Amino acid sequence: MRPEDTLTLDDIATWAEPGTHLAVLGHPVKHSLSPHMHNAALRAMAVRDARFASWRYWKCDVPPERLGEALALLRLKGFAGLNLTVPHKVLALDLIAAVDPDARAIGAVNTLRLTPAGYEGFNTDGYGLATGIAQELGAALAGADVVLLGAGGAARSAAVECLSRHCRSLWLGNRSRASLDSLLQQVRPLAGEALVRDFLLASPPPDLPAGAILINATSSGLHDDEPPPIDLARWPRPGCVFDMIYNPPRPPLLQAAAELGLPHANGLAMLIHQGARALGLWTGAAVPAEEMQRAAAAALQDRSG
Ligand code: NDP
Repeated sequence: MRPEDTLTLDDIATWAEPGTHLAVLGHPVKHSLSPHMHNAALRAMAVRDARFASWRYWKCDVPPERLGEALALLRLKGFAGLNLTVPHKVLALDLIAAVDPDARAIGAVNTLRLTPAGYEGFNTDGYGLATGIAQELGAALAGADVVLLGAGGAARSAAVECLSRHCRSLWLGNRSRASLDSLLQQVRPLAGEALVRDFLLASPPPDLPAGAILINATSSGLHDDEPPPIDLARWPRPGCVFDMIYNPPRPPLLQAAAELGLPHANGLAMLIHQGARALGLWTGAAVPAEEMQRAAAAALQDRSG
């Protein structure tokens, strides 16, 4: 097998590859950048520490109804670490041996580490977001006004991260009321001193703060022909704009930010840093995030070319 192949559960059932193995599970998972960035980091780590020469990272397509079976099989075959992507992050919570308290607060796991008792779950998305925003925009969530668009899984981890880093205020906006209410119910107990407000994207409140960190955690913008989730020109001017989408590299919201001269960044750095944190959890070693960034950017470039 080669790491660029997409594995199935049949491949795992007959798995006999030597070495230490990691994988991302998703459905679909074919386009995942994770094998590119993790294997690049492992190659660089092996230069300093020969243990990592036999580590490999794979991608495996697992339909949601077979996740329990997949986790049991991967444990049996000794897969040391797993990443979970759509649609597994919430489903896995009830299928693993232990859940880290931060991941429990988010209600989703994206990283599993093998222990003698089974898989232990973590969520590194919030760390990836905060580190990505600091790296690309020089902005800190601590003490900031944050306007967060979306109320799905990605918004959930972002909201918990903003509150745990003590943002000053958190303005949660979503297209529909039901998922917004469920997000609010989840994060209000974590608010502490922070002001938490909510609104529908169609009717933003007049007192939205200017100078905020604006984060797009909706999936609006994944396709070039979609309008941005909000009309930036009609909103109070944010301090900077971070869009979790990284493919396309400049989704419509970031095009609008560029036209308005606002500092802006896409979600690639978030992807890199959530991955670097996961690799650190599995290996216990320092992880070269810059190698991961180079490999992911090159893979994206290959695809667009
Ligand atoms: P979910 O499906 O859980 O949530 C989707 C969210 O987008 C919901 O709030 C939904 O609103 C909203 N939405 C969908 N379409 C529109 C639209 N046309 N206009 C306005 N809002 C819309 O997805 P995730 O939370 O998992 O992912 C959200 C985005 O974040 C995706 O683009 C994903 O690729 C990206 N992401 C990036 C990561 C990174 O590392 N960079 C990591 C994780 C996610 P409603 O509730 O009304 O349906």
